[in-house]
Amino acid sequence: MAYVVTCPCGVTIRDNDLEQFVKAVQQHGKDVHNQDASREQVLAMAREE
Ligand SMILES: [Zn+2]
Repeated sequence: MAYVVTCPCGVTIRDNDLEQFVKAVQQHGKDVHNQDASREQVLAMAREE
């Protein structure tokens, strides 16, 4: 099972490890969108596959 989020910009971020996943999504938001996402916001967007 993996955690997955598809960003509105079209990028899909996927990781089996929850902590790595949250970090990757936060990093993407910061690098690409200049936005800070809280852990709660990341988890609210995520789905499990
Ligand atoms: Zn994005």
